[in-house]
Amino acid sequence: MGLEVERAEGVWIQAPDGRRYLDLIAGISVSALGHRHPRVLEAIRRQLDRHLHVMVYGEFIQESQVRFARRLVEHLDDRLNCVYFTNSGAEAVEGALKLARKHTGRPWLVGFERSYHGDTLGALSVCGWEVYRAPFKPLLQSKILPINNHRALQKINNQTAAVIIEPIQAEAGMRAVNPEWLQALRRRCDEVGALLIFDEIQTGLGRTGTLFAYEQYGVVPDILCLAKALGGGMPLGAFIAHRDLMRTFAYDPPLAHVTTFGGHPVSCAAGLAAFEVLLENRLWARASWIEQMVREHLGGAPAVEEIRGRGALLGVVLSDGEKARQVIRRALREGVILGGTLHTDNVLRIAPPLIIEPDELHQGLQVVRQVLEALC
Ligand code: PLP
Repeated sequence: MGLEVERAEGVWIQAPDGRRYLDLIAGISVSALGHRHPRVLEAIRRQLDRHLHVMVYGEFIQESQVRFARRLVEHLDDRLNCVYFTNSGAEAVEGALKLARKHTGRPWLVGFERSYHGDTLGALSVCGWEVYRAPFKPLLQSKILPINNHRALQKINNQTAAVIIEPIQAEAGMRAVNPEWLQALRRRCDEVGALLIFDEIQTGLGRTGTLFAYEQYGVVPDILCLAKALGGGMPLGAFIAHRDLMRTFAYDPPLAHVTTFGGHPVSCAAGLAAFEVLLENRLWARASWIEQMVREHLGGAPAVEEIRGRGALLGVVLSDGEKARQVIRRALREGVILGGTLHTDNVLRIAPPLIIEPDELHQGLQVVRQVLEALC
């Protein structure tokens, strides 16, 4: 997009010439509290005054890591009671896949068509787009199955270490899996002893209308992956599982999964502050009016075929990719930041900071509507 950034505050990004742009994509689901939230900045400054990196992850007791992990598990299902912090989403996925393989002693991983879990080799092995996998083969042993397909579940068997799924496939243009099928997937994993991993790197932390998307499905995963909004704008990811499962990394060999910078104290301080703001303001509750407003403003606009996704994680499906590119470009010129999704070319991403006010969203969506009317 080539937008040069001078500074960013709340829902606005400012260019060096002083022009302000309304951010409707939140740095790809990162800036849930907008940019430079004062509570996050204060927490970062406090941590800077105490210490930066002091030791590789897990050797010393660092308050910001411990407090954030405790606070997270208070808000998760009891089965998800142990947090391993990473630097990124892909690393969270890698950790989860390794944990499943070591715990089960099984080779096979299962991913789903159109899924995206990051760009490391393990994450790529469960990516659902052959075109992105092909140049990097051989990858880990994996099967890629269609979502929402009951027959395909039979391919998950007693050689399967783990099945990884996003409740809403964001980069595929916000495709949601259906709840009954997800419940059947959970049952199939239990039948054959495979671990179920939820990649909530985009859907987590309030974006889809609950604190975590799994709450809406009546399904609890064995391992939950988080990142993006987790660090309040700082790099931070996590994979979270039951303590007994996580202990797998402590023996044969001990230190079977280590990281130098995972859970950086500044990232954890920022993440904890952001999490407290999210909880205090119940920001996930805003996702439903955000969705409603987007649907009201853009549903039925020229070239709009469908609006997919849930809450503040939405994809406006246009009739073709060239139109989508033109709309994104023109909206930017008009001061509104939209985006595409990584693996589709005809979907406009709308995933604003959760702190956006109704008048700001209204203003931005009016611009998008006018752009659609002008171009399509
Ligand atoms: N999983 C999902 C669903 C994502 O959307 C992404 C990034 O876009 C990742 C994993 C990878 O995260 P990261 O870019 O922090 O490695």
